[in-house]
Amino acid sequence: VNERQIIQYLSERAGGADSRILQSIGDDCAVIDQGGGRVLLLTMDTLIEGVHFDCALHPPRLLGRKVVSVNISDIGAMGSRPHALLLSLGLPPSFDEQWFRCFADGLTDACRDYGCRLIGGDTVASPQGINCSVTVLGEMEMDRVVYRSGAQPGDTIWVSGPLGFAAAGLELLRLGVGQDEDWAAPLIRRHLDPMARVELGGQLAESGLVHAMIDLSDGLATDLAHLCHQSKTGALIRGHDLPGLSRLIEAGRYVPGDPFQWAVAGGEDFELLFTAAATVSEEILAVGQRCNLEPVAIGTITTGSAVRLVQPLADGAVREVDITYQGYDHFRDKSGS
Ligand code: ADP
Ligand code: MG
Repeated sequence: VNERQIIQYLSERAGGADSRILQSIGDDCAVIDQGGGRVLLLTMDTLIEGVHFDCALHPPRLLGRKVVSVNISDIGAMGSRPHALLLSLGLPPSFDEQWFRCFADGLTDACRDYGCRLIGGDTVASPQGINCSVTVLGEMEMDRVVYRSGAQPGDTIWVSGPLGFAAAGLELLRLGVGQDEDWAAPLIRRHLDPMARVELGGQLAESGLVHAMIDLSDGLATDLAHLCHQSKTGALIRGHDLPGLSRLIEAGRYVPGDPFQWAVAGGEDFELLFTAAATVSEEILAVGQRCNLEPVAIGTITTGSAVRLVQPLADGAVREVDITYQGYDHFRDKSGS
């Protein structure tokens, strides 16, 4: 059983229609009608020691920031802004007090940066390792919410920034390569302290230009497949247009790993992926510029259901590969599927 099948099983048993629940399991956030044309958005994400982070590599202050950012990323992916946050914290009985203080300071600093605040949570002992789970609430206008399900064949597929940096950065950290080098810094920083593109998500939603949006937590191949599944479409990605490839190729000279694989399947970049009509590219670029970002067009929404990649080969030839759901899955190794 893989992660998708587990969620599917829960979803099938989660109860029938409720007219106030506009979106339940299946998008970046749940969306609940508040009346008066406003909706409430809710999302939760967990970071577990040994799965998502290694305390020997991850400064506690940055980990505190990261658990906020990864959650707010989902709020931004619907076009909303974060309002309040709940934290559930499991700490081993012998936890380091200094570690905790730095973690807490990072977390509350990040909340301030994103304009939201911690309003509750739970604190428990954990027999093994640290785990932290955050729930974020946001609010917005009902008719501005951007779902995963709105993509249309012919839409241009955009990403808000480089792909694969977090995966490459983690590899560099693990192997102790590039720690003080300029070329490696953006890669390592992306793993330790990713930024949620929440301002861009909000402005894109307000612009009314985008048809569908998702944040990239499990890698392009899987997250684009989620978007396509919800939209009942396929997608074609132009591999040579993936932003950040040249820096990944540089990293690939120092640590083992396939730069293309990092870009296509590496998780945790927390860039936004969105689709819009091919006619509004100038407007999309202008919204990006207002947010100090440079969105890049990487492909096209198609009919069908497959996510395909046109991959340039070393000899100048290209090959087309099916990458549907080839990103990160917490349980794939167990089932082999
Ligand atoms: P994301 O990567 O955006 O956080 P996920 O891939 O983790 O989204 O989850 C996909 C969808 O499944 C989301 O709508 C999420 O709320 C839902 N989901 C995931 N795990 C569970 C669970 N254990 N119970 C109920 N819903 C879940
Ligand atoms: Mg998401």
